Amino acid sequence: VHNARNPNTQSLKIEGIKDIIAVASGKGGVGKSTTAVNLAVSLAKRCQLKVGLLDADIYGPSIPLMMQLKGKPELGNDRKMIPIESYGVKCISIGSLVDEREAIVWRGPMVMKALEQLTRGVDWGILDVLVIDMPPGTGDAQISISQRLQLSGGLIVSTPQDVALLDARRGVKMFSKVNVPILGILENMSYFKCPKCNESSYIFGQGGARKTAAEMGLKFLGEIPLEVEIRSGSDEGVPIVMSKPDSIISQAYGEVAEKV
Ligand code: ADP
Repeated sequence: VHNARNPNTQSLKIEGIKDIIAVASGKGGVGKSTTAVNLAVSLAKRCQLKVGLLDADIYGPSIPLMMQLKGKPELGNDRKMIPIESYGVKCISIGSLVDEREAIVWRGPMVMKALEQLTRGVDWGILDVLVIDMPPGTGDAQISISQRLQLSGGLIVSTPQDVALLDARRGVKMFSKVNVPILGILENMSYFKCPKCNESSYIFGQGGARKTAAEMGLKFLGEIPLEVEIRSGSDEGVPIVMSKPDSIISQAYGEVAEKV
């Protein structure tokens, strides 16, 4: 079933959307949603593109919190959902449509049904790029999404830690299997810089993602440190690229946006 050439594979190409980029990770908690949010806002603000953000993380949709989305999307005249705009990005989250406790046990086909609603059932208008915050992992739900949405590219987020990198490799394989070009690996939580003594501590190891990218012949997209303001920005619904656009971290996200 998981074959790009499978004739039964229906594509969900969405009219008006030029490119679809998926932000994926082999496992949860590595900063995939944080990356998707800061990337989407950077693409809108810094690159001046028309951007959409689709939260497809059925196991823990966090975009409503991170982007301060209030309420449920309204329906337009054509019964299509109108995305909620935040920081210049049109957002839709699976979290505002289904109960998380229900969705967590969904298999690929159920996820695809919901995804169909979230893509073609939404009045996205004209978009240069739609960023998708994928469910973590590399199971059949993730493969279905990668296969059916005609992705322009996939970005993999990983921490420098060995186990996370093993999972990142699975993510790379997943995209390759369904012929989705890989945009590169972004390392998150690369180091922690002590605000008092300025020394960097490599809590999860050093240089892991860069090495893995090199070994796999992939682009290395940069390092994002562990930083209180990234976490608090997410929790407060103000992404760091908005609250501190001139910080080194926001510059790093901006560079990722320009590279992809
Ligand atoms: P995932 O989508 O991979 O599950 P999240 O983006 O939701 O991960 O991040 C998990 C938690 O870690 C969140 O509370 C988020 O704010 C925090 N976090 C992510 N990246 C960083 C970072 N670079 N520095 C500090 N906190 C981070």
